[in-house]
Amino acid sequence: MSRQIIIAENAGFCFGVKRAVDMTSEYNTDNESKVYTLGPLIHNRDLVEKLEQEGIRRIDIGEIPNLKEGDTVVIRSHGVVPDIIDQISRTGAKVLNATCPYVTSIQMKARKYHGEGYQIIIVGDKNHPEVIGINGWCNNTALVTRDGSDLENLPDKVCVLSQTTEKHINFEKTVQAVTGQARDVLAFNTICSATRERQESADRVSKIVDLMVVIGGRHSSNTKKLYEICRENCSNTLLVENAGELPEWVISDPKLKRVGVTAGASTPDWIMKEVMDKLRGEGASGKRDQEERKSD
Ligand code: SF4
Repeated sequence: MSRQIIIAENAGFCFGVKRAVDMTSEYNTDNESKVYTLGPLIHNRDLVEKLEQEGIRRIDIGEIPNLKEGDTVVIRSHGVVPDIIDQISRTGAKVLNATCPYVTSIQMKARKYHGEGYQIIIVGDKNHPEVIGINGWCNNTALVTRDGSDLENLPDKVCVLSQTTEKHINFEKTVQAVTGQARDVLAFNTICSATRERQESADRVSKIVDLMVVIGGRHSSNTKKLYEICRENCSNTLLVENAGELPEWVISDPKLKRVGVTAGASTPDWIMKEVMDKLRGEGASGKRDQEERKSD
């Protein structure tokens, strides 16, 4: 079977996730202390299991009081509310803060402009840990909106921030809605370029393939958004966490001549490789869409 596999130009680990994983592994190798992550380090079960095998265990907020002096707790790339860092420090445990610098920058804006009297508005998912964390830096006073359509009776001064993985259209709609209501509007497009690049690459590839495979955790917000984008272009889009989840028909169907692949920001390279290997089958070729476009 001859099959062409097109890998999205930007796919897989982003800067912040790679940094958090590297920081944690290096710290664990170089230090004697027990290392815990607060929540799963990234939205990827296979990687979390691998870390467990290396002795790095996940704990939840309720377990913070059980920490001992000398233990270390990793704060993942999503960041947390400042109170959590205080709680950990009070137990005598160390904090290894792997919050992505881009998220830290949003937290600092929330704190600064809240301090200057602005109503903070966050475009995003109110239940997402990153949004909950950012809200903590303005004393949990932020209004969290999906696209601004639910915002009314705003004060004069508002500051709009965005979850890093949000869609641009939702940010733009919110700024529009707010501009009609408040007089002093500060708007920071804090959507991460890694997210945008992954979304644009996925959009491009999913328009030209018979099947699109999105690799990533089902709880990963950026993976879910990639899936939605691909699904709009290609009804034959699958979301899998690893190679084991690829159904047999995907591997054997000869009608699937062009297969596109993308992966969320928390998908390790080795999982992408396993999926690619399984998809390739006999006589297939794989290339980044950049190479594909060059040869067009
Ligand atoms: S998606 Fe962007 S903001 Fe989020 S962890 Fe990755 S680099 Fe940081």
